[in-house]
Parts: sequence; C-alpha cells; structure tokens
Amino acid sequence: MKLLSIASGSSGNCIYVGNNNTSILIDAGISKKRIEEGLSTIGLSLRDMDAILVTHEHADHISGLGVLSRACYAPIYTTIGTKAGIFSASNLGKIDEEQFVTIAAGEDFLINDISVHAMRISHDANDPVAYTFHDGDKHIAVATDMGYMTDENEQQLRGMNAILLEANHDLNMLQVGPYPYYLKQRIMGDKGHLSNESAGRALSRLVHDDLKHIVLGHLSHENNYPQLAYEAVRLEITMGDNPYNASDFDIRVAARKEPGRCIEI
Ligand SMILES: [Zn+2]
Ligand SMILES: [Zn+2]
Repeated sequence: MKLLSIASGSSGNCIYVGNNNTSILIDAGISKKRIEEGLSTIGLSLRDMDAILVTHEHADHISGLGVLSRACYAPIYTTIGTKAGIFSASNLGKIDEEQFVTIAAGEDFLINDISVHAMRISHDANDPVAYTFHDGDKHIAVATDMGYMTDENEQQLRGMNAILLEANHDLNMLQVGPYPYYLKQRIMGDKGHLSNESAGRALSRLVHDDLKHIVLGHLSHENNYPQLAYEAVRLEITMGDNPYNASDFDIRVAARKEPGRCIEI
C-alpha cells in the first residue's frame, strides 16, 4: 500500500492511500489542480480514483470538493452529518447527491480490495471521522483533527505500518501567539486539535516493531514549525515508556502546500 500527503495543514488537506488496484483520496481541501499535480507525482490521475473519503465538513477538508466532484465521478464517502455540512456550505457549487455513499462512525466498508474503518474523532464538526486502511497484513492510518485521542482511537491505531497523525500546534506558541482567546480555547479544547506533545505521547504508546513510517500532519501555520513538531514528537517517543528510540522510525513532517515523498509499505 502507498501513502502520499498531497497537502496537509490548517489551510488545506488532501491525502492519497492506495495499492496497485485501488486508489482513494482522503479530503479535498485544496484545488482540483493541486490534487491532480499531487497525484501525477506517483503517475496517477483523477480517472484512477475509486473513492473520495471526507473526514468532516471544515473548509480545509472540503473547499475543493465541489470542483473535484464535477471532474471525478468516484463515489464520495461521508457520514450523514458531514454530508449535511457539505450541502450547507455555500461556496462549493453544485454537487450531485447521487455521488454520495453514507457511512457511519465505527463501520468497516470495502473499496475494491481495501478495507476501510471509519472511527469517530473528538472534533467540533457534525460527525467527524478518521480512517484506517487495511490490505491483507498492511495497515495505514490517516488521523487528524482530534481534540484528544480517545481510547477507541488508540485501539484502532494499534498495529499500523504507517500513520499520518496530526501534530497541529506547539502549546507555547499557541498560548503566546496572536489568536483571540476563544480560538485558543477551541484549538486546545477536547474538540480541537492535537498538540505536538499530545501527538508524541500518543505515538510513544503506539510504536511497535512493524510501525515503519510516521508522518506528522495538519500543522498550524501560525502556531507551529515543522522542526518543532518533529523534535517534540521524537523526544516523546524516545522518553516514552517503550523499548524504542525515535531513530528506529522514519519520521517526517507533511508539507503544508506540496506533495511529500510517497511512502510504500
Ligand atoms: Zn477540522
Ligand atoms: Zn482540519
């Protein structure tokens, strides 16, 4: 299986997961053009996509969905709440309701030969989910926009070979930064975003022999730096109650605006 971050961050998200037979996009928070450019780095085009999975209706996950859906006829998988959020967004243009397949948090479903699990996440959206992908003994997770990692999330994220996990902000930068009080409270709250430290601590519990790749994603532009997220997570993994050192894993930070290097497991 392959994992490619096309864009990841508070200003737009789109991730690719697939294998030789099946291609899946997770979220469309950037332009169709940028999605196409990202896919072209691994020799794919919109025609190859078998499904578009949406995590939730925030603009950084759906702003490109209208244009994308009119160019790419792959079914769009969302929860009912997310679908309602998409249809009440005013700036997406016409989206064909027939293109949607509704799923429920906690459910498993198949996209060709890839089994997908949708897990509920704690975030201030209608009915947000994150996804894990399973192809035989290969497992990939894409998990962002989580106020905190629930026990259920942690259970679902065990046994992954590659994880793209949110490391949204440095707590200190957020606290002293320019955001208004209510926004700081929202981001730090139970339905906001994972800090670098929270991501690192969660990863320090999730690491195992077959976890090969860790990608830190959904970094805040204002309240984080890639190097800070990277170092904070490395420290938590190394200091954590596990037999590993951070250097045992390929850890990288997903770029906010350009495609990363494709990970293959
Ligand atoms: Zn969100
Ligand atoms: Zn987001």
